[in-house]
Amino acid sequence: PDPTLRGERMEGEAEDRALRPQKLEEFIGQAEARANLRVFIDSARMRGQAMDHTLFHGPPGLGKTTLAQIMARELGVNFKMTSGPVLARAGDLAAILTNLEARDVLFIDEIHRMNPAVEEVLYPAMEDFELDLVIGEGPAARTVRIELQPFTLVGATTRLGLLTTPLRDRFGIPTRLQFYTVDELDLIVARGARLMGIKAEPDGTQEIARRARGTPRIAGRLLRRVVDFALVEGDGRLTRELADMALTRLGVDDLGLDSADRRYLTLMAEHYGGGPVGVETLSAALSESRDAIEEVIEPYLLQQGLILRTPRGRMLGHLGWRHLGMDMPKAAQA
Ligand code: ADP
Repeated sequence: PDPTLRGERMEGEAEDRALRPQKLEEFIGQAEARANLRVFIDSARMRGQAMDHTLFHGPPGLGKTTLAQIMARELGVNFKMTSGPVLARAGDLAAILTNLEARDVLFIDEIHRMNPAVEEVLYPAMEDFELDLVIGEGPAARTVRIELQPFTLVGATTRLGLLTTPLRDRFGIPTRLQFYTVDELDLIVARGARLMGIKAEPDGTQEIARRARGTPRIAGRLLRRVVDFALVEGDGRLTRELADMALTRLGVDDLGLDSADRRYLTLMAEHYGGGPVGVETLSAALSESRDAIEEVIEPYLLQQGLILRTPRGRMLGHLGWRHLGMDMPKAAQA
């Protein structure tokens, strides 16, 4: 692996961690989810029991991992983290489950990508805190039941639709995370700038917030890059002019769309007359995986009304045409 790249990523991750809110009160936005979690956390603490299993779903970077960590901290228990694709065999999950202490939080990211054989292990574990392990093979095989400590499973997924029904039904607290408003992102950026010791003007943080695709992870990343420009090419202050200059040079447009978003919209307009066009076709034409298109690119374009989803495929909306500076063809207006 390229050492520079790794260095940069690690630096990014370390700063990321420093900016992560530690308490529910420090977590900005998602007011409804936060208010409900407050109640369920306090109730679990008052009862001295494990909190109910919780599922966070929504686009990447909206705070699913952060909320899971906050839950563990507020519940005063350990936080263990793994992900669906990492759990290759049933034994991998069994090993993690048997090592949990009472009321611990186990976070499984990308839970929709768990192997079915592993998922089977999870059902009795979630429901009765029991593990059924098969020992031996063939006629001599037998099942032994292992008692687990009561624990809280926190699952995260970008694709609720890909979760099996039995798994989805075992979460007592399903929680959908929404894109953040510009005002909420502004608070997050201003807090980040403060923690980084950067002088930021309100217009400057607002400009980053406006162009962060409704996503705190993107807001944090853009803030770090703008600060680089402010230090090297400016006087160290985060102003609106500086943010605009830096973001434009990074290829982030006025709406906050990046080059992948614009390629998607341009393709729809120029090659498919605005659609409808199927996701498989878009995936092949853009050389992007279908997952990346559906999980990363489309949710924000849909939320902004730039594209529409119809039974026959995706279509470019009025606002999408306008954003490209193109007229909607007469045929598409019907
Ligand atoms: P997800 O698990 O949904 O992909 P994360 O929890 O990893 O998202 O959050 C991505 C980044 O955004 C983290 O650096 C986190 O600190 C930051 N972040 C997320 N939500 C908030 C928030 N409400 N306030 C401040 N920072 C946030």
